[in-house]
Amino acid sequence: MKVYNYGKQSITEDDIKSVIDVLQSPYLTCGPKVKEFEKAICEYTGAKYCVAVNSATSGLHIAMLAAGIGGDDDVITSPMTFLASANCARYCGANVVFTDVEPETANIDPVEIKKQLTPKTKVIVPVHFAGQSCNMEAIQKLLPVDRKVYIIEDAAHAIGSDYKDTKVGSCKYSDMTVFSFHPVKTITTGEGGAVTTNNEVLYKKLLAFRSHGMHHTQDWKYDMVELGLNYRMTDIQAALGCSQIKRLEQFKKRRREIVDYYNRNLRLPHLVEKEYSNACFHLYPILVEDRKSFYDKAKEIGLNLQVHYIPVHTQPYYQKLGYKWGDYPNAEKYYEHCISLPLYPDLTNEDLEDIVSRIKRIL
Ligand SMILES: *Cc1c(COP(=O)(O)O)cnc(C)c1O
Repeated sequence: MKVYNYGKQSITEDDIKSVIDVLQSPYLTCGPKVKEFEKAICEYTGAKYCVAVNSATSGLHIAMLAAGIGGDDDVITSPMTFLASANCARYCGANVVFTDVEPETANIDPVEIKKQLTPKTKVIVPVHFAGQSCNMEAIQKLLPVDRKVYIIEDAAHAIGSDYKDTKVGSCKYSDMTVFSFHPVKTITTGEGGAVTTNNEVLYKKLLAFRSHGMHHTQDWKYDMVELGLNYRMTDIQAALGCSQIKRLEQFKKRRREIVDYYNRNLRLPHLVEKEYSNACFHLYPILVEDRKSFYDKAKEIGLNLQVHYIPVHTQPYYQKLGYKWGDYPNAEKYYEHCISLPLYPDLTNEDLEDIVSRIKRIL
């Protein structure tokens, strides 16, 4: 019996060749491929600057550092996300303020953000759940005029997605956008991430925080101005990224076809795509009555599904900080019923028929 996971990378001969080429070149890291990949991301998204890093988690961390957040600042994000969207604030000692989601998109709700904004709010991290952009214009309109509040988009799910007339990552409605290239995401570098921005000051800070806080490197000389990290991407990873990004439009087309197929053939409760969105879908979550039993039965018939996500505020670490079950009812209700079906570009039409018929057997 064929086994399907919820996500899977798509690797071609070209991808393999581009990695081998780097292995036979003089630079395994800090070479030309990283710059080439950054340029390709700028061209694709329309952003002015891009800094490639070794994961989206690292990208979120240096974006927080570049925004200058620390001890007494509040960072607003969604509870319906992967841990890293919130943890990046904690790395800098800042407080995480979760904000409930819209039931039909599982995206952070601008109305809820408005209720949580205080003079301590320094950053808002909208998470583009399943690949669908948050309502960025509505979020931007909430910003106070008398002081700076940064918007850092967690677009780990959303490379290839459009919001209105812009690509996610263009930073038209934000200060920085962070992508992930983990193998389950839409394009991969094994592990990897990137931060885009249109702001030159932030760009220079991101570059420095990626590499030990070093500035003005020339010949043997450099100045360490602040405490940075080693979050660099290798040329081996970047070469795979350069090759993968060429197929991004094709991936998007196929991902949308699969979503459409499931919508038409399963007719189960699923996310609603808003009029402002043209998503490169990363996930296809459905809502089922008895999720535990559905998960177990699916596993028995070769469908390895996944739950996205356990609301972050309910994790033991965040409960110790004072959060509890019941704090964000929309996110919690969504979590009780959600389960993500297989969604990746290498699924054939026969695979889709097979998956749908298996699901119908266990509903
Ligand atoms: C995957 C993911 C991350 C972290 O990405 P890594 O590249 O694995 O560090 C962050 N946020 C969201 C929403 C994710 O799905």
